[in-house]
Amino acid sequence: MTTELIDGFLAAIPRPAVLVDQTERFIAVNAEAATLLGQGVKGRHFATILRQPSVATAIEGCLRDRESRIARHLANDGAQDTTFAVTLRYVPGIGAVGGGAVLACFDDVTEREQAGQMRRDFVANVSHELRTPLTALIGFIDTLRGPAKNDAPARDRFLSIMEGEASRMNRLVGDLLSLNRVESEERVRPKEKVDLTGHLASTLKTLLPVAEARGVAVKLDAPQEGITVTGDADQLRQVFLNLVENAVKYGGDEVQVVLSFSGRDPAVRAPAARVQVIDNGPGIDPVHLPRLTERFYRADSHRSREMGGTGLGLAIVKHIINRHRGRLRVESELGQGSVFTVILPE
Ligand code: ADP
Repeated sequence: MTTELIDGFLAAIPRPAVLVDQTERFIAVNAEAATLLGQGVKGRHFATILRQPSVATAIEGCLRDRESRIARHLANDGAQDTTFAVTLRYVPGIGAVGGGAVLACFDDVTEREQAGQMRRDFVANVSHELRTPLTALIGFIDTLRGPAKNDAPARDRFLSIMEGEASRMNRLVGDLLSLNRVESEERVRPKEKVDLTGHLASTLKTLLPVAEARGVAVKLDAPQEGITVTGDADQLRQVFLNLVENAVKYGGDEVQVVLSFSGRDPAVRAPAARVQVIDNGPGIDPVHLPRLTERFYRADSHRSREMGGTGLGLAIVKHIINRHRGRLRVESELGQGSVFTVILPE
């Protein structure tokens, strides 16, 4: 096979690909591989470029016994780590010294690996969140059967703790199902016309007893004329319930909900409505802000658990707003309260 033909074949492979022959040098390198491994690698010994033991050993083995192999190659372009699965196949009849070379093709598997890691983390988190109340329930059942069997006041106290733990599990399962539903609908555009003014007023009404019990004043500031968006009324209720409930739980003694029409909003490149939930609480350390909408991420774990939080509220909010092609912005400073802004295209 001529060099042109070999180069032509490699150029037709739509991902990084190199050929290493029996002299252990690169005899062909396509453009994608040159971008990955560096220019001018052709003619060099492969071990000076592919130094990671996994790939180097696999190439040596494949040259020796001609068996196919798969190895992992980790790369870093200065900004981020990338993982490649390197498939090695022996190609007889080309290259120097007795003929035959190893064709190594690089597949970027970073996203697949990250998705796998996210799934494992999620399962570990869910198990941990469920196990904590479950362990408490099992412990109390043992106590009720044993030492507290004939102790009526202790039994009542334990039963009410058990009720609390069972409702924590129930809330978690409810939020997990909700997250699942919201994620699966994320690509379906909502079609209802929702009058945000009336919608917000009725949502806040349902939260009044909770706010009153905590001594928090909730105020709605909305314009006289109605503001309407295209959306899913039930999901939008979930968004505002979550944000206002958080402001009541984690904020100070005052929550202000401000609805306004923001004109053509650059964030969504369309005329949009803006809902701001403002509290005068202790605020959130800026280091937490970028991760706040991740599942199970809590700025203050202790307080969240004390308040019965599942750590899923803002993740659900984010997915619902994504479905509405809207934006969520969080601004907060320690000691300065927090502002959660929802921008919804009309
Ligand atoms: P949780 O179920 O813990 O309330 P969320 O996803 O709703 O979970 O919120 C994530 C975290 O963000 C909370 O645990 C809390 O630490 C923080 N947080 C949310 N809203 C506020 C707020 N208004 N003020 C201070 N911290 C907040």
